[in-house]
Amino acid sequence: MSTHFLIIGNGAAGYRAAKSLRKADGDAQVSIVTEERHPFYLRRQLGDFLAGTISLQELIFQSRNAYRRERIDLFLMTEVARVEPVSHEVVFATGQRVRYDRLLVATGTRAAMPDIPGVALEGVATFDTLSAAQEVKGLLDSARRAVITAEGVIGVNLAAVLAKRGIQVTQLAANDRFWPQMLDETTSGLVETVLEENGVVVRRGAPVRSIIGSDGRAAGVEIASGEMLPAELVFCGCRRQPAVDLLEGSGIGVGQGVKVDSALRTSAPDIFAAGDVTEPLEPEEIEPGSSAFCWQRAWAQGGLAADSMLGRAAEPALEAMRVRTSIFGADLAVIGRGHLPEGGDIEVVELRAAASVFRRLVFKNDLLVGAIVFGTGESVHELNRMAAERATRETVETTLGLLSEAPGETAIPRTYAAHCPICAAELVIHRGTPLGSLVHCEACGTNLAVAWDGRRGWLEMPRR
Ligand SMILES: Cc1cc2nc3c(=O)[nH]c(=O)nc-3n(C[C@H](O)[C@H](O)[C@H](O)COP(=O)(O)OP(=O)(O)OC[C@H]3O[C@@H](n4cnc5c(N)ncnc54)[C@H](O)[C@@H]3O)c2cc1C
Repeated sequence: MSTHFLIIGNGAAGYRAAKSLRKADGDAQVSIVTEERHPFYLRRQLGDFLAGTISLQELIFQSRNAYRRERIDLFLMTEVARVEPVSHEVVFATGQRVRYDRLLVATGTRAAMPDIPGVALEGVATFDTLSAAQEVKGLLDSARRAVITAEGVIGVNLAAVLAKRGIQVTQLAANDRFWPQMLDETTSGLVETVLEENGVVVRRGAPVRSIIGSDGRAAGVEIASGEMLPAELVFCGCRRQPAVDLLEGSGIGVGQGVKVDSALRTSAPDIFAAGDVTEPLEPEEIEPGSSAFCWQRAWAQGGLAADSMLGRAAEPALEAMRVRTSIFGADLAVIGRGHLPEGGDIEVVELRAAASVFRRLVFKNDLLVGAIVFGTGESVHELNRMAAERATRETVETTLGLLSEAPGETAIPRTYAAHCPICAAELVIHRGTPLGSLVHCEACGTNLAVAWDGRRGWLEMPRR
């Protein structure tokens, strides 16, 4: 009898695994179950679909016929409610039971909706599936103002799409800096600067308290200070949590995601997991509640999971990538623990090649454990591989020649106001402005140099 490979989840990890399994074993039965109504589509490009730069046909990668041609059984709109490792069965929400020989859990993440009044109002949306994007598309024409209630990949993606459509966007950040689970202070400032330069208003230290409605529709957001921000569109669910509810009672180990070994085996025999649902690298050093959210990692793990399910010696996927995205055209990659602060056995090297190009390398006991690259795609691939391999500092240095670079200019870490030393007019210097760069005082026409001593900033006459 042929082996039945059953895959739960038809995203990057599940779809890639199904294709690889079919290719490697022509006789096997390969099935994918998904609660969504569409076949595989490019989830990370939902923003482009919303912006109208790609069509529905371009977004949906495979038609249902293509699955038939490849003899992959596709169960759409089918939720798996339970996994029963002892009997080798999964149970659908309808009660139907299906037996598997090898099972892959590739269920990704779910929106962590804030527990606040107003989330059920019309005009309050999430943005993580094609169905949700289609609904949001219908709301855009009548919206003038939008509030995005949390930071994250989805939040910045949405901010870019909405701002380009002329909608006035406010992006809320709960903490005093942007996206602290992923970014260090400097990168956080650079991301904020890009958003602000493109017309997005960033409100830090502004957790949302409730969503205010009028006639059943969203009318605005009340933040913790009591201030009301008017908005016809409110986006929640930018925070993600692994979709592991179906594993409750199965005995499969779950921490900050499904626990897997380097070959993506779970703690139950014949059950594997891949993609965003798996626990991130060394979770004890990543803040609780921050899951993986990375297409590249999910795609790579889908291939590795297929090898493992086939019983092949699987090459560990050298994937330390946690986020790879573009914010208004500026590349951002967060690799491993690139956000960790310096201290103890953690050493940080920061390199700035130009005002908006920043690299941050994080070493633990002289081994590369993470990096953040902003403003360029250069060296991201090598850093990802070296962080996954825990390359030595010497290897990093010789591979990239990075550490011999002069640190060059640095940026102002926070926005400050300073007086012109000539006419005393007040000028605002924005976070991310390169140290030593010139600003022009409109009042007296003097060019002034931006100065910062590590704690405070001022303006001075340029040195010749
Ligand atoms: C708007 C948006 C923008 C993004 N931008 C980027 C980006 O710029 N860069 C980047 O790297 N990543 C980005 N991502 C994230 C990227 O899409 C994910 O990392 C990737 O899709 C993860 O793949 P996956 O296969 O692990 O899970 P998913 O793609 O989430 O697929 C999991 C599937 O499992 C299904 N499922 C869950 N539970 C069950 C169940 N019990 N029964 C049946 N089916 C179930 C879900 O419905 C879903 O279809 C973005 C995501 C969104 C939504």
